Amino acid sequence: MTKPTKTDLQKYKTILVKQLASLRGDVGSMRDEALRASDQDASVDHLADQGTDNYDQGFMLGLIENEEETIKLIEEALDRIDGKGEWEFGVCPMCHEEIENAKKPGKDGKKPKAAKATDIWIPKARLEYLPWARYCVRHQESEERNRESA
Ligand SMILES: [Zn+2]
Repeated sequence: MTKPTKTDLQKYKTILVKQLASLRGDVGSMRDEALRASDQDASVDHLADQGTDNYDQGFMLGLIENEEETIKLIEEALDRIDGKGEWEFGVCPMCHEEIENAKKPGKDGKKPKAAKATDIWIPKARLEYLPWARYCVRHQESEERNRESA
């Protein structure tokens, strides 16, 4: 894998900006709808209906949370493209760490373990599909596993 070119970066940036605009619009209207639903709850006397209404509202607010998470990821990716991020755009920081660690001798003085990662660049095919991806597929999966078990 190689470093994204300027043309690639421009392309990712266009996708990210568009996604961000559409997500921001969605979150606004979804929040309005969820709040409107809760206003109605207050005036409805049918207690039996309330269970499903609350469920719908919780479901919608859950979707909003996911969207807000995605918005955050997109904003971070845009910062990386502009050189203001925590690391360079297109790099998997965990692969980078793995390779760096493998270069150092272990604490016991033994030869370092071979890194599983061979390069730090997230494959282009993945970035075209998910330009806000923070990690390569392997590290994304281990990250998600960590979060679930936490
Ligand atoms: Zn990685």
